[in-house]
Amino acid sequence: MKTIAFIGLGNMGGPMAANLAKSGFRVTAFDLSEVMLESAVANGCVKAESALAAIENADAVVSMLPSGEAVRTLYLGVHGLIQAMRQEVLLIDCSTISANDARQVIAAAGERGIGAVDAPVSGGTAAAAAGTLSFMCGGEAGTVASARPVLEAMGSNIFHAGPAGSGQVAKICNNMLLAIHMIGTAEALQLGVDNGLDPAVLSEIMRASSGGNWSLEKYNPYPGVMEGVPASRDYTGGFSVALMLKDLGLAMDTAAGSASSTPLGALAKNLYQLHGGDAVNSALDFSSIQNLFRRPVGD
Ligand code: NAD
Repeated sequence: MKTIAFIGLGNMGGPMAANLAKSGFRVTAFDLSEVMLESAVANGCVKAESALAAIENADAVVSMLPSGEAVRTLYLGVHGLIQAMRQEVLLIDCSTISANDARQVIAAAGERGIGAVDAPVSGGTAAAAAGTLSFMCGGEAGTVASARPVLEAMGSNIFHAGPAGSGQVAKICNNMLLAIHMIGTAEALQLGVDNGLDPAVLSEIMRASSGGNWSLEKYNPYPGVMEGVPASRDYTGGFSVALMLKDLGLAMDTAAGSASSTPLGALAKNLYQLHGGDAVNSALDFSSIQNLFRRPVGD
């Protein structure tokens, strides 16, 4: 596999396409934004004038788009890419979208004999830049195996979750749990602080005890406890409240579809809605949920 068409060069797609180019692939890139396109060209990609032009001579298509609607519009229908793709081309969609949208795209590709996988990512913009993303793939085992060399140029963990759509299900299960333990961690830290404990000391105790979890160990939400995390730079950078709300929305839709009981996921979504109701908070990193529990100074 030599030439990769890359569609969607935003905060995630831009660095992912750059890593593919760095690994020796010829990357024909397209984005609706000229600014993103020029930045990809500066990072070793070849500019395409349209998505259709990008897939010409491509061995694989990778997409990293904001929504299910964007992915469906790109691939499906009479003007969609699937109608224009050669059978040998592999379709890899890395966007976070609903499992149903992913299955629809993969089925449409299958009808034309085209191999396709859903491969949403975990890791955020820092991992996208470092090439250390985790990919959660859904699709046939052989198709996932064919996607592996492409994914390995952008990530360090590649999981096969199951049939089409399973990558998306794994992704929203993980992010629902992430939201829940982040909120629980913020709540516990504030309880300690309100009762006179130093959040750094409490974090050290809980890390070594049964309350230990990823949010506490790698992404402490209390300002000043851990260096290099969003909490220590006014919750800038990282994974936004808006994106967490998108993933929690997908989780709740999936739970409704399977009649699954997800009371903590529903509460987590409500708390993030309460916290991220304005444009300022929704742009902050999701660990800023700590502010929902913090008391005003002097209280
Ligand atoms: P972004 O908004 O920065 O980038 C999306 C890009 O897609 C934009 O540059 C936009 O111009 C382009 N685009 C939209 N429609 C297009 C079309 N039809 N053709 C070509 N280009 C089009 O978003 P992002 O942060 O890069 O996120 C992309 C996906 O990755 C989302 O599904 C998101 O949920 C997921 N994700 C994001 C993160 C993160 O930390 N940002 C982490 C994990 C997963």
